[in-house]
Amino acid sequence: MEDCLFCKIINGEIPCEKVYEDEEILAFKDINPAAPIHVLVIPKKHITSLATMKQGEEEIIAKIYKTINNISEKQGFKEKGYRVIVNCGEDGCQEVKHLHFHLLAGKKLGEKIVE
Ligand code: AMP
Ligand code: ZN
Repeated sequence: MEDCLFCKIINGEIPCEKVYEDEEILAFKDINPAAPIHVLVIPKKHITSLATMKQGEEEIIAKIYKTINNISEKQGFKEKGYRVIVNCGEDGCQEVKHLHFHLLAGKKLGEKIVE
């Protein structure tokens, strides 16, 4: 996807602070963190959103959650806990149209996740 910000990060056109990478997944620090730890975990394959996933693409979701759990263990916040958020579509306020999982941690997060 030529005009996709996260595809540009994946192919190195735009730099990022990498947290984890394998053949299928990239995790990097959010440029505007909403918590002390704010990592974005994305599939390298361009998938626009949860709502547009095609059959067979769901497998990546399990791998992303496994990656998130591994990151939490490696960075030492698995015990304390964390939150995962996926914004989807207009009402979900999804700004970047490449599927991404927000991993938030590093402090006691607010009880409410919507305003
Ligand atoms: P969303 O609103 O769910 O689409 O989230 C998009 C996220 O991407 C926001 O939290 C932004 O801060 C983050 N973001 C935008 N541009 C960059 C970038 N160049 N590097 C890292 N994170 C970014
Ligand atoms: Zn993309």
